Amino acid sequence: MNRRDFLTTATTASVALTFGGCNESNHQAIDYSKHPKEKNDDVKRVNVNLNKKTVLKLATSWPAHFPIMGTGVEQFAQRVKDISGNSLEIKLYPKNVLVPALAVFDACSSGQIDAFHSGPYYWKGKNSAFSLYSGLPFGFTAEEINSWMLFGGGLALWREDYAKYNLYPFLGGNTNIQMGGWFKKPINSLADMQGLKMRIPGLGGEVFSKMGVNPILLDAGEIYTALERGVIDATEWVGPALDMKMGFYKVAPYYYSGWHESGSILELTFNKHSWSKLAFEHQAMIEVASSEMNANMAYEFHAENIKALQELKKLDVKILQYPKDVTHAGKIALQEVLKELSAQNKDFQKVYESISQYLSLSKEWSDASLRYFLNER
Ligand code: CA
Repeated sequence: MNRRDFLTTATTASVALTFGGCNESNHQAIDYSKHPKEKNDDVKRVNVNLNKKTVLKLATSWPAHFPIMGTGVEQFAQRVKDISGNSLEIKLYPKNVLVPALAVFDACSSGQIDAFHSGPYYWKGKNSAFSLYSGLPFGFTAEEINSWMLFGGGLALWREDYAKYNLYPFLGGNTNIQMGGWFKKPINSLADMQGLKMRIPGLGGEVFSKMGVNPILLDAGEIYTALERGVIDATEWVGPALDMKMGFYKVAPYYYSGWHESGSILELTFNKHSWSKLAFEHQAMIEVASSEMNANMAYEFHAENIKALQELKKLDVKILQYPKDVTHAGKIALQEVLKELSAQNKDFQKVYESISQYLSLSKEWSDASLRYFLNER
């Protein structure tokens, strides 16, 4: 796939509009909001009618067939179709086909669509706490954030916060650890970061801002040209597999390891009403298939990154680490950002406290086991 293809939003001509959630029986709501494992057995289950097809509309924030994130959700939809004996069809709408990429949250909240696949940190303008459901700088690894979500109370908090928007989220994948970004010039000390114009979103952007960087928000399709023309001096994106396709190495060959997105969660989120109307079996199938998607996406990122890293090495890309003073400044800046956002928003404070408690214990275990192992391997 060349860069142009990759950046082009597929405008699939054959967009047949369906009536989302057209399962018309009077289904009782099943509230799973406490914990994914605590299904409420008191609620009357509505069983599936295999002779009647249910169609759901799911919009994504990615172009059609976007590697890993887009193809992962396509596999999820196919899996649901297969295991439901074709009684549940999840119709996918890539970005801008039915809903603009970053309008999927509102479209789902209002019931225009039944579900979306995106990333929670895109909605930090609605509630700064939402950025934490993606993760935080110097925070969880992919494995740790899944553990917090499923067994440390994270998903329950997320569902509680999203319920205010009539939404019901699931874990929908993980980018796994991301790279710090591409720079036109090497970074030898914190002084080299001052005034640098860098594309970096989310909490990472806020941390970099306090470190003297000028964070710029750009849509995926604009980043390469901005970097090539010097409108920006640096950009982060994801990791070798996706970054190589964007061609950043041609104009910014200094590639730094990172700590701003160490395991970012992607979301599969349903309109609460659409979800509650589904038959019990269909809900269970979605839970199983989304769990598979969540795991496989992280593994696929790993598999594609290890191949792409070898390709980047052949292209003479310099793979580097930030100097110590940059990382030190990042840790101080993060504490300031967390303090400010906690003071401004009680939801943020609540979610951050949960993360902070879990992370401090998780670090001890990860240091005693994984850190030792990786250092010795
Ligand atoms: Ca990123």
